[in-house]
Amino acid sequence: MPDPHQRTQVLTSARSIVVKIGTNVVTRPDGRLDKPIVRRLAEQIVLLTRRGFDITVVSSGAIGAGIGQLRLGVKPKSIAMLQATAAVGQPALINLFNEALRRHGLQAAQILLTRADFEDRRRYLSVRGTIAALHQFATVPIVNENDTVAVDEIRYGDNDILAALMCNLLRADLLILLTVVDGLMQNGELVQTVHRIDRNIRQAATAVTSALGTGGMATKLQAAKTVTQAGEAALIANGRTRNVLPRLLAGETLGTFFAPAGRRMASRKRWLALAVRPAGQLVIDQGAAAALRESGKSLLPVGVARVKGPFARGDVVRVTDPKGRLVGQGLVNYSSKELQRIKGLHTNQAADKLHRKRVDEVIHCDNLALAPRSD
Ligand code: GLU
Repeated sequence: MPDPHQRTQVLTSARSIVVKIGTNVVTRPDGRLDKPIVRRLAEQIVLLTRRGFDITVVSSGAIGAGIGQLRLGVKPKSIAMLQATAAVGQPALINLFNEALRRHGLQAAQILLTRADFEDRRRYLSVRGTIAALHQFATVPIVNENDTVAVDEIRYGDNDILAALMCNLLRADLLILLTVVDGLMQNGELVQTVHRIDRNIRQAATAVTSALGTGGMATKLQAAKTVTQAGEAALIANGRTRNVLPRLLAGETLGTFFAPAGRRMASRKRWLALAVRPAGQLVIDQGAAAALRESGKSLLPVGVARVKGPFARGDVVRVTDPKGRLVGQGLVNYSSKELQRIKGLHTNQAADKLHRKRVDEVIHCDNLALAPRSD
């Protein structure tokens, strides 16, 4: 039975919050930045910062603002043009936030990231350290994708996902996705609480993509799923609603609340499970799947049935059971080539095959992030 107090509990105990602001919130239909709305949001952020919240903003709108600055009228099509448009719009966007925050004695700090920054563990940790330091300075980090350098393979292309990963990186308690609708609608009514992102919910989120931004309700659900899987909460609300942020945190039932799906996932496991794209896949047998899932064991060569590479030692791979259900994601101690040779073998045989005295686990349990059981 859903707990009606869960929303209040999460909101009253939240301290670190990621607020994602969509392109349509900060730009007007002609693509120009909407100064009054940015000022109002900045005021709300100032208020929350003064109350002791650590707020990290992920703001879209660089491309939107660039369209306005360059008087293009419509979103350009080519990647280079889009990147150039973002390069023009990003400083305008950050200036506007900075100017709005400075009226109240705070400053904006710009952080531009690509997917590669999340996948590289050292950079990932360095971003976390930098943001913690910015919070100590009582500044407001304002994150966006580094659109001018991000190419397809290293691009999120969508700040909903970037914001969800930022929430996980920071181990923030809550992700608030601000858009221009009141939340998720189902049969003409606002869904107040989502406990499980199932087929019904996904159907309600028929992907309506906006004119200037890239996301839609479907990617917002994906973002909410990423955060709730890690054991935190998410909210989708209307960024144009007066005083939306303080009102949400005061427990007003605005927007759609996504309750945590389970216990809080450890930080390293979040990175393994959610930030890194797997380089390959291991299909393991039923016995091994049970040992991993139920007893928290490490994966041994004997349990590996199929290897889909290529991948190198130290890469992150997906682990599935024979039916293709996800068991988890983890750091592998062998290359795909080595694993092809030792899969299905007992540890001694595997050592002989590789001419080693001893062999390691294929994936150590500390380096394996198990998928939630419902998947
Ligand atoms: N990074 C893009 C921008 O600032 C936005 C991507 C998105 O719409 O989510 O314009």
